[in-house]
Amino acid sequence: MKGKLIVFSGPSGVGKGTIRENMQFNNYVYSISSTTRSQRDGEKDGVDYNFITKEKFKNKIANGEMLEYAEFCGNFYGTDKAIVQKTLEAGKNVFLEIECQGALQVIEKMQDVISIFILPPSLEELENRLIIRNTESREVIDKRLEKASKELLLKGHYKYCIVNDQLDDVVKKLDTILEKEIYG
Ligand code: 5GP
Repeated sequence: MKGKLIVFSGPSGVGKGTIRENMQFNNYVYSISSTTRSQRDGEKDGVDYNFITKEKFKNKIANGEMLEYAEFCGNFYGTDKAIVQKTLEAGKNVFLEIECQGALQVIEKMQDVISIFILPPSLEELENRLIIRNTESREVIDKRLEKASKELLLKGHYKYCIVNDQLDDVVKKLDTILEKEIYG
């Protein structure tokens, strides 16, 4: 039997990474994205992302190698089609942690997607989180917030929407959804 595709999405800074790290459910292969953004301190190439040049990314698009991709605040991010397909065919579940443009491409293209959207309690709260995270300049934070306000309008495309107000609650809800979806 083929594995299931989990699409986990939501605005930058909403806490997707922290939620995933705290989940009990771990019956999936995490899809490592390719990106043209520069590597942050502490990030490992081939673990957090495959850090590649814009030229290489554009070639991958031209060769039809991407399942989905998006230009997000000046950088490209995308998912390799071949790896996802091979993993699903091997009967393993695949977890994509991606922004909304890419998530919508996957929802349209693929069948049986478990799509989950994480919302911030408010845009003010999202701004606070991005400031506290301290990984981007003020200019980039403003771009990400502008993007977030548009992304929030797309929540109707997802099967599940969860507001990230209490980490423990969100993690529990997500574990319940995934156990039900995967084990029935
Ligand atoms: P960051 O620069 O903070 O690592 O990521 C920026 C945004 O891009 C986040 O919302 C992240 O989830 C998203 N992202 C990461 N990988 C991918 C990908 O492969 N495809 C798409 N569409 N978005 C991604």
